[in-house]
Amino acid sequence: MEDEDKLQYIARNQDKLRAEYIKGIFDAVEKGMQEGNQIGKRVLLPSSHTGCRRYIIQNYHDGIAICRVYGPPDLFITFTCNPKWPEITSTILESQHPNDRPDIIVRIFQMKLQQLLDDICSGTIFGPILAILYSIEFQKRGLPHVHILVWVDKKGNEITAEIIDAWITSEIPDPTTDPLGYILVSEHMLHGPCGEKNLNCTCMKKGRCSKFYPKEFQEETTFTHTGFTVYRRRDTGIYIRRDNHNLDNRWVVPHNLELLKKYQAHINVEYVNKSRLLKYLCKYVNKGPDQANVIFERIKKGQDAPINDQTRDIDEIKEYLDCRYICEQDALWRLLGYEIHYHWPPVERLPVHLPLMNLIKIKKEAKLRDVISDPKNQKTMLTEWFVANKEYNDAKDLTYCEFPLRWRWDQSNKKWIKRRHGFKIGRLYYVHPTEGERFYLRMLLMIVKGATSYVDLRTYNGITYQTFKEACAARGLLNDDNEWYKTFQEATNWATASQLRNLFTTMLTYCDLKDETQFFEKNWTKMIDDIEKQLKLKYYPINYTPTEAELQDLLLQELEDIFCKNGQHIENYKLPRRSTQHVLDTTNRLIQEELNYDIKRLEEEANKLYLKLNKEQKEAFHTIIDSVINNKSQFYFITGHGGTGKTFLWNTIVSYLRAKKNSTNSCIIRGSIFITPKWTHCSFKI
Ligand SMILES: [Zn+2]
Repeated sequence: MEDEDKLQYIARNQDKLRAEYIKGIFDAVEKGMQEGNQIGKRVLLPSSHTGCRRYIIQNYHDGIAICRVYGPPDLFITFTCNPKWPEITSTILESQHPNDRPDIIVRIFQMKLQQLLDDICSGTIFGPILAILYSIEFQKRGLPHVHILVWVDKKGNEITAEIIDAWITSEIPDPTTDPLGYILVSEHMLHGPCGEKNLNCTCMKKGRCSKFYPKEFQEETTFTHTGFTVYRRRDTGIYIRRDNHNLDNRWVVPHNLELLKKYQAHINVEYVNKSRLLKYLCKYVNKGPDQANVIFERIKKGQDAPINDQTRDIDEIKEYLDCRYICEQDALWRLLGYEIHYHWPPVERLPVHLPLMNLIKIKKEAKLRDVISDPKNQKTMLTEWFVANKEYNDAKDLTYCEFPLRWRWDQSNKKWIKRRHGFKIGRLYYVHPTEGERFYLRMLLMIVKGATSYVDLRTYNGITYQTFKEACAARGLLNDDNEWYKTFQEATNWATASQLRNLFTTMLTYCDLKDETQFFEKNWTKMIDDIEKQLKLKYYPINYTPTEAELQDLLLQELEDIFCKNGQHIENYKLPRRSTQHVLDTTNRLIQEELNYDIKRLEEEANKLYLKLNKEQKEAFHTIIDSVINNKSQFYFITGHGGTGKTFLWNTIVSYLRAKKNSTNSCIIRGSIFITPKWTHCSFKI
C-alpha cells in the first residue's frame, strides 16, 4: 500500500536522520564528540506526512490562524460524490457497481471538487471570497465527501436575512416553473422520511430525528440568540412524494440552488454566524482519520523489544500504521497526489526558539565540526527576520507574525525575500506558559516590530533587560495578570473545554496569578461547553437548560479532579466553593449507563437477534464473545460493504453482553468500554 511505502522510507532513514539543537552540537564538539550518531534523537514522523496526528493538529492551527486574520467563517458546505454522475456511469461496465471502481470515483470527484472550488473562489456564487479551507473525508462504505469553510468578503457589512436567502434555499422549487430544480431537490436535498413516518431511518436516535427534522414552517429567515440561523421555509403547498409520504418544505436540507443544478449532487450549504461555533467547525473540518482509540503494547516475539535507548523513544511510525485504516478511495486519492486538506490563503508556520535552540536535522555519519561550521545551520526564519530588519528599512514596520504578508521565505538559501505578489498569513507555533523564557519570547514576537537581534528584542525605551520576561514586564504586558488573560483567551480560540481546564489549573499552579478569584470569574464560562452538553444529553429528549450554579459546581468538581491528579488541592486556591447538590460523575457515566439496562428485555432481544445471524456473523459473534467472557484482550476488525450486517452483528453482541452483566460483572465493565459508540465509529467502522 502506498502509505506504507512512504512510511517505510521514513522508517528506513530513521537511523540516518537525527535531530538536535544546534547548541547541543556546539556542546558535543566541546566535549570531544565527532560523529552525528553520538548525539541527538531520532526523527519522528514529519508533520508534512498527510494524515498523521501532527499533520492534523498543524492544519487545525492553520485554520485558526486564518480566523485570527479574517474572523469566523461564513459558510459551511458539505459536498458528496454522486455515483450516478454520467461521467462515472458511462465509464464503468454495466455489471460493475461504482464502488468496484474507486479509481474512477476518486478522479471524477477530484475534478468536480476543483470546479466547485473555482466557482466559489471566482466570487460568482457567494460574492468575493477572503479565504477557503477544505478537508476530504472517506468513509469506508460510503462515497468521498468534502467539508468546506468559506470566508466571504463582507466589506464590513452585516450579513442580513436577504443575503442569506440569496445564498441558501430550504424550499422545494415549483415543478411547473422549475422542473429541474424540483427533481434535483427531490433526489439530493430531501431529508427522511423519518420520525413517526419511518422509525428505522438511520438518523433516528432515541425515537427522535438526530438532525431535528421535520423543521417548522418559517415565513422569514431569522437568527436565534444562540447563534443558529433558522432558514425560510414557507408553507407553499408544494411537496414531494416519497415512500408513501408527502414531504414539504419542512424536510428540505439547506442548499444553494445554482450549485445544486450545476453539480447534481448532495451539496449542503449552511450559514455560520457565531464565533463560538468556530472551533467545533474547524475541528470537524480537520478531524483526523478513523483511528483506533487504543494504545498498542509491543509484545510480539521480542521483535519490537528495545534494542538500545533510542528505540525506546516513541515510534510514531509504528503507532501510525498500527492505528490507521485506509480504504481504497483514500489510498488512491493520496496516490494520485491530491490534497486531503487545503486552505487558501497559505499559512507560514514560524518557529519560536531561544538563541541557538533551533532544532536541526543531521545525518548519522555527519562530522559535527562540519555541522557547526556551516552557517546555514544557525539560520532560521527567526534569526533571518532579525537580519532582514537590519538590512532593509521597509522590513521594519512588521512584527515577526506579520512578516510573511510581504516577505517570502526562501528555504534553500535560508533568507527572507521581498514579495512581488501574493502573501501568506503568519502563525507562531504555540508555546506553553510553563516553558518560561520561550513563552515570553513569543509574547514579544507578537507585538515588537523591526527587532534586529534577541538583545534588541529585550530592549525597550533604551534599556536592555536581562530576560524576555523582564522586557515583557517593562512593556506593561505583565501587569494585573494581563498576560495570563491574553494567553487563556488565545487558547480559547482553538482548545477544547477539557484542554482549557487543564491549562487553567496549570496557570494557577505555576504562573503566580495575582487574583485567582477574578481569573476564575472572567473565564469559567469558557470551560464548560462539554459539561453543558453532557447535561443536555442526560435529560434528552427533554429540553433541559442547566442553571449557572449547576454548571459552575460541575466545573469546580472537574477542576478539583485535575488538581487532585497533579497532587494539588483546590482548597489552596482562591476559587469559589462548590455546593454539594450538583454532582455529575462524568468519568463513570459510561459505567452508570451500562448498569441501567433492563436485563430481561435485553436477554430476549439478544436471543431474537442471534437467531437471525448468518454463518459468518455467528462465527464472529462467538469469537468476540469468547474473548470478552474469558478476559482475553483482542483487537477485532470487521469490514464489508454497506448493508452486509455489521451493525446488526454489533447490536447482537452488545445486547448479549449487557444482558449477561449479572453473571459476569467484572468483564462486562471492560466489555462495555469496549462498546462505546466512539469505538464503533472510529475503529471498527461497523
Ligand atoms: Zn431524520
